[in-house]
Amino acid sequence: MSTIQQNLQDVRNRIASAARDCARAPEEITLLAVSKTKPVAAIAEAIAAGQRAFGENYVQEGVDKIQHFAASPQAAWLEWHFIGPLQSNKSRLVAEHFAWCHTLDRLRIAQRLSDQRPAEMAPLNVLIQINISDEQSKSGIVLDELPALAEAIAALPNLRLRGLMAIPAPEDDYPRQLAVFGRMNDAFLALRQRYPQVDTLSMGMTDDMAAAIAAGSTLVRIGTAIFGARDYSPA
Ligand SMILES: *Cc1c(COP(=O)(O)O)cnc(C)c1O
Repeated sequence: MSTIQQNLQDVRNRIASAARDCARAPEEITLLAVSKTKPVAAIAEAIAAGQRAFGENYVQEGVDKIQHFAASPQAAWLEWHFIGPLQSNKSRLVAEHFAWCHTLDRLRIAQRLSDQRPAEMAPLNVLIQINISDEQSKSGIVLDELPALAEAIAALPNLRLRGLMAIPAPEDDYPRQLAVFGRMNDAFLALRQRYPQVDTLSMGMTDDMAAAIAAGSTLVRIGTAIFGARDYSPA
């Protein structure tokens, strides 16, 4: 078994065991493999091991990978999620290539994505990013802003509002991880009351996936535990 195949198996086991610990069904939790900075060969290994959904942070890198795999037999089955910060000048590439965008935090970009989504594609699935704990971060809205932004996004024809996403400030303490994720789950449940199509709560990464699952995550975004540490040094 390759390392990536083995890592994927381990991560699936960790998800299943975290789910069982809080009496949830493991199938309620989607595993998004975060492949940013990793070569297509690593993604191909993950695909061969049955992984379907991939997350990319950099628009052009993500589009290159989507195009690379467009000719593969699994192309129609793969699902590409944009999970990085999105600037308006890159919105067209996201609208034309990805199935999901997790990082919506501005109406102006939402409008562009809806306008730029090709008519022959299904609506772009979007999550609103919440700045839940990281005051330093410029990404995400505060919860007070959620009702108005959700209402505006839900009205856009070529987007489908599916839920919320957060990247909490790094925190080692499990009870504190749980408290932050719990606030996200409260907001998610309230949103779902209002918009029945809302079904996705994107939270949990390599170091905090167990707490995220205990607090109600439906999608964990895992990079390091699958593909190993990332190398950001220039090639
Ligand atoms: C890089 C990244 C991840 C994956 O983080 P790991 O700690 O490597 O699992 C998840 N979500 C987002 C938004 C990221 O940028």
